[in-house]
Amino acid sequence: MSKRLKIRIFYIQCPTLDTEACSFLLLSQNSQQDALEFEIHNTETDLIPEDFTNKSSLKKPIARERILSECKTITERYDEWVKNNVHQGFGARSEMGSISIFITEIPLELNFYARKEEDVAVISIAAWRRHIAPPSALEFIIRIVQRLAVPYLLKSYLRSHFATRGCLFDFNQILSGVKNSVLLGYICEDCRNILLKQLGENKVDAIIQLVDLKWIGKVDEAGSVANILKKSFHYELDLTKGLKPTWLERVKEVLPSTLTQQVIVFITGFLLAALLFYLRLK
Ligand SMILES: [Zn+2]
Repeated sequence: MSKRLKIRIFYIQCPTLDTEACSFLLLSQNSQQDALEFEIHNTETDLIPEDFTNKSSLKKPIARERILSECKTITERYDEWVKNNVHQGFGARSEMGSISIFITEIPLELNFYARKEEDVAVISIAAWRRHIAPPSALEFIIRIVQRLAVPYLLKSYLRSHFATRGCLFDFNQILSGVKNSVLLGYICEDCRNILLKQLGENKVDAIIQLVDLKWIGKVDEAGSVANILKKSFHYELDLTKGLKPTWLERVKEVLPSTLTQQVIVFITGFLLAALLFYLRLK
């Protein structure tokens, strides 16, 4: 029997999020510890309800009960699809019925950003705004994925504590409130004792290792997760503010900062000169 708990990640209705960079960051957790194993699963569009795939779904908040029940149905359809296509058609191995976490840009009612039930959880990043960064949206997502995934290791439910301690299990009503937990990578004494009672020292050490995001490393450290995110996915954790890099962030990423400033000054000067010339002609 597998020692690790498998956590399946699904993306539904994520038109803006850089899902490739996000997947790389989430999967990088697998080599950092041995309590959890994250997997990315790609759903066929016809497994998803039609009103989750059109543009209006990104505007109208959805009730948490409905999204959880729809995601549960998607996992059942997906398992059926895997049975028929992956096992019989592709001849590949795939385990059924693990824990599933859905990431979406569909807003949830009352500004909730995460909901969880028995074996399905949902993270909505609809409330992400550029001013929340740093840390980047991807670091928020990995932290919320950890927050949802770790309690699945436990036999009994672990509630959030209302007090903000910078702990993985802080209660945060809104997405931006997760910032302390993202920055500190900490599990408080109370929560650690609850985990220790149920999981034992080795697993808790693995979780602490995971939650301390130092393993992501620095952007300028060759071979680090942050470095690969920049080089292979153009997502720079210290620079990117949106759900994906903007063209300006990509320019900044490849150019030295002084050169970037000179380019911006040049373009601004050129645009101003063009505007003045146009106004004089009028
Ligand atoms: Zn705590």
